[in-house]
Amino acid sequence: MNRDRVIILGAGLCGLAAADELGAAGASSLVLESEQSVGGLAGGFQRGGYTFDYGPHRFHTPDPVTRDYFLGLFPDGAFLTPRRKSEIQLVGKRFAYPLEFRDVIRNLDLVDNARAFIDYLEAFARLRFSNPPEESFEDWVVNRFGRTLFDLYFGPYTEKLWGLPTSRISPDWASQRISLVNLFDVLKRLILPGRKDEPRTYAREFLYPAAGIAELPRRLAARAAERGAEIRTGALVVALRRTTGGFSVRLRGADNREYEETAARVISTIPLPELLHGLEPRPAGPVLTAAKGLRLRALVFSHLTYRGATPSDNHWIYFPEAGYTFNRISEPANFAPELAPVGAAALTVEISCDVDDAHWNRPAAEVHRSAEAGLRRAGLLREAVETAYLSRQPAAYPVYDLGYAERYAACLAAANRHENLITTGRQGLFRYGNMDHALIMGRKAALVALGRQERETAQAVGTENEYFG
Ligand SMILES: Cc1cc2nc3c(=O)[nH]c(=O)nc-3n(C[C@H](O)[C@H](O)[C@H](O)COP(=O)(O)OP(=O)(O)OC[C@H]3O[C@@H](n4cnc5c(N)ncnc54)[C@H](O)[C@@H]3O)c2cc1C
Repeated sequence: MNRDRVIILGAGLCGLAAADELGAAGASSLVLESEQSVGGLAGGFQRGGYTFDYGPHRFHTPDPVTRDYFLGLFPDGAFLTPRRKSEIQLVGKRFAYPLEFRDVIRNLDLVDNARAFIDYLEAFARLRFSNPPEESFEDWVVNRFGRTLFDLYFGPYTEKLWGLPTSRISPDWASQRISLVNLFDVLKRLILPGRKDEPRTYAREFLYPAAGIAELPRRLAARAAERGAEIRTGALVVALRRTTGGFSVRLRGADNREYEETAARVISTIPLPELLHGLEPRPAGPVLTAAKGLRLRALVFSHLTYRGATPSDNHWIYFPEAGYTFNRISEPANFAPELAPVGAAALTVEISCDVDDAHWNRPAAEVHRSAEAGLRRAGLLREAVETAYLSRQPAAYPVYDLGYAERYAACLAAANRHENLITTGRQGLFRYGNMDHALIMGRKAALVALGRQERETAQAVGTENEYFG
């Protein structure tokens, strides 16, 4: 038993921040990552002079300590501070996102406009003066935006993203993810069209590494290693066995050979259901059933390159309509010019799906063909595609379906029955957080392992009822 070190499962931002923090405190750690490179969802890859992220990633945080943590990794100033620009493509037109009423009015016809506005006012009054039911995501949005805007955008987009009817999606994540429009702001903007006030609810400016988002985990990994962490990629965790005084982690290496590593304390950032299924002694039957019921939504990415410029100045564009297989596209060179060679550009297309469904298993050529056809139809691609790359992320979004909260609570309690096992991160806490949350979760988990913080306090990161952007 290696008593002094902490084993960390997963080298996404959370696991790396934990290793970095442990190193800063003089403690050693071994980070085990199944992929060949670090970064997890905030990783990326480089090919043919292009750099690709797994979907658009902008770093922003309301926490000055975490902002400084990011900046501390870039003492050379190799980052940019772009202003977010994103739109929705709908009925052949583009709407600013987060929604701006002036834009809605300009783009919709008179009847739709009148209906959207009346619905919105009605919803506003109903929410103010009565207590409408709020059992699902659909209720939450209709109560705040009205039925017309729900049917036009929020409903179709969310169903496509989650692969579930919105009446079966919990309202829990909506308040953290949907920027509310204040009626007073709306009227002020309509009456004073020149005003550029922004709702206080979302951050415009963000931080972005000039070399792509993967530069953030790369630098974090390098610093953690300097501070004594061992970071081992190509190491798939298959089981975690409780032993006297600690844990034994069973791993499968790239050569398919299985071996074990031991430690007194484990920080796990791998998906909570996966952790429970690999835990020995096995958790009780109902816990494993609950774990099976915690779904993770996957993403398939088609990255297309061509000679020419980016089609718009957006960082990303949402596609709610069922006629498009994808739910969002992004324009890497608008994040940082270095991400594409001079005179060339790329588009990243995101298709949400479940692991092993038809989209997940589709041959790459078909995925690219359908992505390309959609982009041409949307008027976003006119040039010939030079190269197409495929990437996949199996655990992109925790699915907050109705009843998930009880299942999650049972799973978390089962993991927490083990002293010195700290499940954390987006996957480990089944929490739809951002990169800043992942960093904070990792740093706090390290403090727990060092005996300087309560586990439950560290596991509460990202539960606050505020807009995450
Ligand atoms: C499409 C998309 C866009 C996003 N955009 C933004 C954004 O704009 N801004 C923002 O702040 N956040 C964004 N996020 C969220 C952000 O990516 C995550 O919150 C953050 O990267 C999570 O880090 P993590 O370390 O907690 O989890 P992960 O990155 O998921 O890390 C978990 C790691 O565990 C590894 N692992 C899993 N199973 C095993 C196993 N059995 N053995 C060994 N290793 C294993 C995985 O390979 C992975 O590296 C976005 C997420 C997605 C999906």
